[in-house]
Amino acid sequence: MSENILIELRGLTKRYGYGDTESFAIKDFDLTIKRGEFIMIMGPSGCGKTTLLNIIGLLDRATRGEYILNGENVASISARRQSRLRAKKIGFVFQNFNLIEDLPILENVALPLIYSGHSKTARLKNASSALKRFHLQEREYYFPYQLSGGQQQRVAIARAIVNDPEIILADEPTGNLDSRSSHIVMEELKAIHEEGNTIIMVTHNPALTVYATRVINMLDGQIDTDVKTVADANLPQPISVKIKKKSSTPTESSTVKEQKPKKHKKNRRKH
Ligand code: ADP
Ligand code: MG
Repeated sequence: MSENILIELRGLTKRYGYGDTESFAIKDFDLTIKRGEFIMIMGPSGCGKTTLLNIIGLLDRATRGEYILNGENVASISARRQSRLRAKKIGFVFQNFNLIEDLPILENVALPLIYSGHSKTARLKNASSALKRFHLQEREYYFPYQLSGGQQQRVAIARAIVNDPEIILADEPTGNLDSRSSHIVMEELKAIHEEGNTIIMVTHNPALTVYATRVINMLDGQIDTDVKTVADANLPQPISVKIKKKSSTPTESSTVKEQKPKKHKKNRRKH
């Protein structure tokens, strides 16, 4: 079922320094990721988890190796193309939320849509429906500091999914949250996964691996163990379009769209 392969990494290596100072954050890394997987990556501090996530998220580049995303080798495309692809296909969630402090949360969530060609009104409407999904619609005009950590992380997840990305990358998203907020955030990610989205998440908390369909332990920039807990055949199927045309628009297959199909349809025409 090769059409189900979303990401292939082949011999991916990230080197820092030269000669005496040479070190490898990840080395000769091979990994195949299918659509609908919920992968949790664990491993000691410094083993390369963030480096791996940043390369997958097109925020960083490998020193060598192949990164094939949807059949296209994206390891050596221009920075401009990388950022366009990133804006279309990838949603990020970070440990420290990374919200912009002097923007109300509605505008924070609307930010990824800036590159989409939508009007500002349409962007704010989309952001508003994303916030509604996370029961934060009453707080649209709050600033990040006015919310709890758990609420801020839900805002960050709303921002990560507002653009209907294919891949959600989360780097220790519960690392700054108490256990109750962690649980709420994990339930949100679980729901997003069950809608057929692919999630790759770094965590230090072994208890969270119950949410994963696959658990990868890293050591010294390489895979130490790789265990699938759900058979490929049982991965969730995307709710909306999945048989994609080559030149598909970024707004396929998501979450917010499921709730407000009309709005999204209208917006999509502007692509
Ligand atoms: P993790 O997220 O698993 O804690 P990282 O991916 O952040 O690990 O880091 C992996 C290794 O790469 C570490 O040894 C780290 O010191 C090194 N590293 C990360 N970023 C840089 C950098 N910009 N310059 C030099 N070394 C770096
Ligand atoms: Mg890290």
